[in-house]
Amino acid sequence: MKWNFPRWCLNPWLHTSLLFILPILLASALQPWLTSYSMEKRFTQDLDNIATDFASGLDGFEQRNVEQAFAELSFSCDSEDIALLNSPSLSPAIVRFIQLELADGRQCSNIGPPVHYQFDRFRSLFIDSQLVDIATTVAANDRARSIAYIFHLGEQRLVVLTNSSVYNETLSTLCHGCYQLMIGYQGLSSLERGVEDLLQTQTFIEDSRYISVLDVTLTLRAGDELYWREASRVGIVLFISALIVAFLAVIFYWNWQSARVSMGMLIQKGISRKEFIPYYQPIIDCRSGEVVGQEMLVRWRRFDGVLVQPNQFIPYAEDSGLILPITDLILEQVYQDLPQLKGWVSVNIVAQHLELGLLSQWFSSHPDPRAKRISFELTERKPITQFELALAEMKAVTPLCHDFKLDDFGTGFGGFSYLQRLGINSIKIDKMFTDTIGTQDLKGAVLDAIIAFGRESQMDMVAEGVETQAQVEYLAAKGVYQHQGYFYSKPLAFEDLLTFYQNLSNKM
Ligand code: C2E
Ligand code: CA
Repeated sequence: MKWNFPRWCLNPWLHTSLLFILPILLASALQPWLTSYSMEKRFTQDLDNIATDFASGLDGFEQRNVEQAFAELSFSCDSEDIALLNSPSLSPAIVRFIQLELADGRQCSNIGPPVHYQFDRFRSLFIDSQLVDIATTVAANDRARSIAYIFHLGEQRLVVLTNSSVYNETLSTLCHGCYQLMIGYQGLSSLERGVEDLLQTQTFIEDSRYISVLDVTLTLRAGDELYWREASRVGIVLFISALIVAFLAVIFYWNWQSARVSMGMLIQKGISRKEFIPYYQPIIDCRSGEVVGQEMLVRWRRFDGVLVQPNQFIPYAEDSGLILPITDLILEQVYQDLPQLKGWVSVNIVAQHLELGLLSQWFSSHPDPRAKRISFELTERKPITQFELALAEMKAVTPLCHDFKLDDFGTGFGGFSYLQRLGINSIKIDKMFTDTIGTQDLKGAVLDAIIAFGRESQMDMVAEGVETQAQVEYLAAKGVYQHQGYFYSKPLAFEDLLTFYQNLSNKM
């Protein structure tokens, strides 16, 4: 089926706008999904980092520092003991204060005099075979509840009270105003740090990590704030990527357009300079070895002498409609060559030739009997869209020409319907099928079916692409006698064709 787009659909500026807008629309469509994905990824990463820090540092306070302190303390609360308590290894930022409590009841802290504290609950566990009590302090007016570790060495204790408001800073550094962290010790009431009221937000997410060494569960929560931060980050990346893709697509499109335009201009110039010339490929009857006709295959001999093969310009010429003036030009030359050509000569046409009635126009301006030796080859490459018009044209032209042949038969979908509806009774068997002769190719069965059909329906058949003696013999045995192919000759310039005729008659 052929689509006939309205002209405005082909406007390059419309294409450019679409190429520009589409990546941006696509980016906008992807944004919510990518944001959720990125938010979850970042959330999980942050939770893992918090949990790793928490576990490795005993809530930010290193277990090995305690072991070292127990080894170095004199347990007399003298100035050396106090200095040791005050050393950075025992009093990092997470430590609010650290206090040594001796068996005889004396106490001293890193700030000198003992500090009074109150725990609401506590529980004991062993960390690396060291007895540790973990306790939560009672909230005071100026400070939140926090965690204390009480390390035992015999009757002596080292009490480390952590400053868990440090977590507010940690959370804030990770993402300001995004997270709430719940530190849940089994049997102790959990501590909450960071933002509150996240449960009310639309994009609430929550996940937990259990840290077995401390028997603590860390639960992290996040909401809209994290979502919007990720949305803007993802949005910027997507927007920049969409712009880059859009620019590249537009550049690519305009390069392609200008190549097309320049190809169009070159062909037009070629037409006005009559650079398109006919080559002829003889078609031989294998029984007599004589030329029965030839296919005209156009060549573009450019002003610089380069001979351009059809596959480099025919597709564009057919798409753009420039094939019509090319055929006109070439038909004129075929008409001039006809007196010296043997048999018929077939010219490749496209659907538009029929739909626009161009062939009958040509015949009316060439009312000469020699035009009766012209045959036309029609492919399904560009399907006919206006069948009535095409049929009327074929009816008008059939009495004036040699015949119409269906080109590349068997390669398209509508071959049989073309034969039936247009009343064509000559087929060209495509090279694709001739190639299967003598091979295991499954298309060999199709070749036999095509030949059987052609014979049954009394079609005139020409086999294309005949290259070997074996193919000649196989086709002849099946009743296909008209052969075109390199076995006999390549397409030839007019003068070379005459030499070919000469050589052939010399051989006979
Ligand atoms: P086609 O009509 O199928 O033409 C047959 C093609 O097969 C020709 O290629 C011919 O050179 C090639 N050929 C013939 N025998 C053999 C063979 O034994 N072995 C091999 N390997 N190839 C063989 P060419 O000349 O390059 O033409 C290519 C296509 O261009 C043609 O295919 C035809 O569809 C198109 N074409 C050529 N001239 C015109 C024209 O004036 N108008 C239109 N609309 N199309 C044309
Ligand atoms: Ca052809």
